[in-house]
Amino acid sequence: MSEKKKKTDSKVLQTLKFMFGIMLREKPWFIVIYVIMGLAGAVSSAAGIVIPKFVIDELVAMSDGDIQTHITNAVIWAAAFAAVLVLAAIIAAAGNYVQDILREWFNEYIDLKLAERAMETDFQYTEDPDALDKLNKAKEGMSWYSGGIMGVTDSVYYIFQNTITAVAGAGIIIFTCPWLLPVQLISLALITLFQAKINKIEQASFVELSKFNRIFGYVFWHLADFRFGKDIRLYDSADMMNRKAKFYSDKLIGVWKKESYDERGYQWKMDITNALRDGISYGYIGWLALTGAITIGDLSMCIGAAGTLYFSLNGIIDGIQGIIKKCGYAHRYIEFMDYPAAMPKGNHRVPEGPHVIEFRNVSFRYPRTDKWVLRNINITIKQGEHLSVVGLNGAGKTTFIKLLCRLYDVTEGEILIDGVNIKEYSDEEYRKLFAVVFQDFSLFAFSLRENIAFSDDTKNDPAINEVIGKCGLADDVGKLSDGLGTMIYKSFDENGTELSGGQKQKAAIARALYKNAPVVILDEPTAALDPVAEYDIYRQFDTLVGGKTAVYISHRLSSCKFCDRIAVFADCTIKEYGTHAELADKPGGIYAEMFAAQAQYYVG
Ligand code: ADP
Repeated sequence: MSEKKKKTDSKVLQTLKFMFGIMLREKPWFIVIYVIMGLAGAVSSAAGIVIPKFVIDELVAMSDGDIQTHITNAVIWAAAFAAVLVLAAIIAAAGNYVQDILREWFNEYIDLKLAERAMETDFQYTEDPDALDKLNKAKEGMSWYSGGIMGVTDSVYYIFQNTITAVAGAGIIIFTCPWLLPVQLISLALITLFQAKINKIEQASFVELSKFNRIFGYVFWHLADFRFGKDIRLYDSADMMNRKAKFYSDKLIGVWKKESYDERGYQWKMDITNALRDGISYGYIGWLALTGAITIGDLSMCIGAAGTLYFSLNGIIDGIQGIIKKCGYAHRYIEFMDYPAAMPKGNHRVPEGPHVIEFRNVSFRYPRTDKWVLRNINITIKQGEHLSVVGLNGAGKTTFIKLLCRLYDVTEGEILIDGVNIKEYSDEEYRKLFAVVFQDFSLFAFSLRENIAFSDDTKNDPAINEVIGKCGLADDVGKLSDGLGTMIYKSFDENGTELSGGQKQKAAIARALYKNAPVVILDEPTAALDPVAEYDIYRQFDTLVGGKTAVYISHRLSSCKFCDRIAVFADCTIKEYGTHAELADKPGGIYAEMFAAQAQYYVG
């Protein structure tokens, strides 16, 4: 067996195991419904072939004179046929109803699991095009292209149903019109071959479509999302966005056009094969009837059996190809669920009490890049110390914070907390150490309370009012229609509110303080605040963060006066380190120069 085939087989088997595993775990009784539906379908198909033969033969036999008996027999056969059809239709309708409900249930189940996995995945993958592409393929592969769990289990069910029907059809043919068997089988082999070629073309298109869909979707959703409305209007970017959307939509159409062009030749060959098969079959059966080898009833039965055999065998092959195809798509979901962790996970517990953070010779490059962003960083931050991180844009300040929070692992050197390499700590424990407000923090379309506490059970928690007060947000909250219960944005509530940039930033700081973690990290915490609010925040920084360790990035150097130490980042490393008093007057110093440049705007 070739390597490629082995890989496909294992993908199919893995996916089937995965799908049926979920079905057996969550809704095992549905397997019984599948079996009943399959048997009912096969019995009604077989009845549709066999019973008309007896009806016709009874009617033809009336010429022997015993009209009464033959008519009675024909009516009994017809009534039996009707009863089988009605029963099968009731079973099919009930089964389809349950199937539709379960389809939705499984789709939601699978979406939820994917969302959970995406949230647990290492942060660095959220900035990694390959991982984002894999997530997109997982989503699309599982939903649109494979039809989800039921898309695959349905195919297995059709194979089962068609197998029973094919056995019945083949049995009838062997005993009445045996030469029909090779005709049906040869034509089926040819059709299968052509269909396989078409499937291959579709699979190749999927890979290309997925990439363009992601880019097109991004542009399209940003155009349609009201939150981006301001930027789009004020920068007149709609034209450019529209052009981009059109460009990628043309690319998508191009891929579809090529797909249908490539498929056309095989479609023709399938049509010709079908026509030849039908011509030969009807000629052969007609000849048998004319020569008296079979009765008129047999003729009708042979035609029915040939059609049924062909379509059920075709159904089996279609089902198998469908399963291979669907499993190929759905396997992307399994791949994403098993996406290897980017960073090794430890299991050390973080000790109680004061913590000392130490960067020892840390250097860092982002994955898939050659450029050093940080080089030989050495710094120790003691419990309760307030460190201000300053430097020009792109100096690596945010990256320094990302490394400290272990969103990325260092490329060289090590970061220690209380003398232990941070890789040794359990992720969950380690994250509890930090409350971070990143520049690009997000508020969600939930209530303000939920945005701060990430819990809907904090109505009577005084801590939430305390942090709101500390951040200077209490007055703003008082003015909101439903106070802390007011929904942010209008996505789900027409009374929802759109907070100002400053209010959002205060809410983000409140969220960080509410977490009550030993280390508070603020990445440009006051960029959106007015000077008075900013001054207030810094003035009461000690009260705000209490005895906690605090690290904050700031462009407003006047804020550095309030902190214990300043680290100046430049040329990928910490160029200067000391207190405000030590650095502000250092001749030729970077900090001194930056401070003097800013001071002229504020002093005098
Ligand atoms: P600062 O916070 O000082 O403005 P950053 O830490 O954000 O600087 O960025 C430092 C350098 O790292 C910049 O050159 C930036 O382009 C690069 N960088 C930031 N994030 C990524 C990323 N996810 N992948 C690759 N390079 C990045």
